[in-house]
Amino acid sequence: MSIVPMDSGLDNMSAPSGSAGTAIYFDGTSSRRHLVTLAFNDALAINADEHTLAAWPYADIRRADGPSGMLRLSCLTAPALARLEIHDAAVAAELAARCTQLDENLPGRRGVAAIVGWSLAAAASIVAVVLFGVPLAADRLTPLIPPALERRLGDVAEGQVKILFGNKICSNAPGRAAFNKLVDAIREAAGMDMSIQTAVLSTPIPNAFALPGGKVYLFSGLLAKADNADEIAGVLAHELGHLQHRDNTRNLIYNGGTSFLIGLLFGDVTGSGALIFASRSLVTASYSREAEQNADTFSIDVMHRLGRSPKPMGELLFRVTGKQVDNTLSVLSNHPLTEDRLMRMSDEDRPLTGPPLLTAEEWTALKAICTPSKGSATPGDH
Ligand SMILES: [Zn+2]
Repeated sequence: MSIVPMDSGLDNMSAPSGSAGTAIYFDGTSSRRHLVTLAFNDALAINADEHTLAAWPYADIRRADGPSGMLRLSCLTAPALARLEIHDAAVAAELAARCTQLDENLPGRRGVAAIVGWSLAAAASIVAVVLFGVPLAADRLTPLIPPALERRLGDVAEGQVKILFGNKICSNAPGRAAFNKLVDAIREAAGMDMSIQTAVLSTPIPNAFALPGGKVYLFSGLLAKADNADEIAGVLAHELGHLQHRDNTRNLIYNGGTSFLIGLLFGDVTGSGALIFASRSLVTASYSREAEQNADTFSIDVMHRLGRSPKPMGELLFRVTGKQVDNTLSVLSNHPLTEDRLMRMSDEDRPLTGPPLLTAEEWTALKAICTPSKGSATPGDH
């Protein structure tokens, strides 16, 4: 906690001219710990007993990982294990001002921010490439993104979601249990081994979406319009399909960060995001439609495996979006028409052979997931 140096008893040492304070120095060849004085000359002079042990050019000095409250440094032109540890905040600040490249070439130091910054920059440049006529770039790059980075991208996007929606995650316990049961059943039927985080967000927008790295959000507005568990199951399976196909990651690369985030605002089911980014969508038209159809295929398969019908999902979507007109609104044509989707899912209707995914009580609990838990200290609180 404290940044008071352990050697603070040495404060009374009168600093020689040009001396900038004391530090601990390891020369990188032995484990010996040197108490040294620093001098800000042309290079950083590391002195002990009136000898200069080393002189580090400022441009070569880099930050090394160390505990908070201490600045630990290495030097590109010194032995690899040489370290300088500075406990005095004023000295650390002075050094930081002189060492302009302190934080360069240090992967991991800035952690998530650096990697995400890099990936967003990469995404932006990829978008430029895509727009200039390499339509398969995203398809080719997506498989190259490691799952760890994908999860980080998802974490960042999740942070945006929480800002946009005020972190209104519904947490009524019985509702949460029913929701988890539904998601688990779908995931098992889909044979997905990735860990999936899911939540219901309290917002009137009737939608759902998936984020890179296995996050699925259902908006309570869609839940409110749903009549049974199969309707919601179909939607969740559709979102899991996007995850399985890594569509969200591909979209992030394809469309760049901004439209991705706007897309989150409007979710996935109704395709409003696609409408707003119509000009971009024209470029990605065939791709988007294909991705949606593939996610629908995935959902249909999962529902069949569960012995349930995919038709309720189509009915829910139709209830939400209503009848859409094709020709006049050509920008919508990149998104599969709800009517077509309903028709397809109706064609895939099968007699029910599996048990209900939720009991009547569980379905009631899920519908009430956004109401405060009963039995709390303020039962009358609505
Ligand atoms: Zn979709």
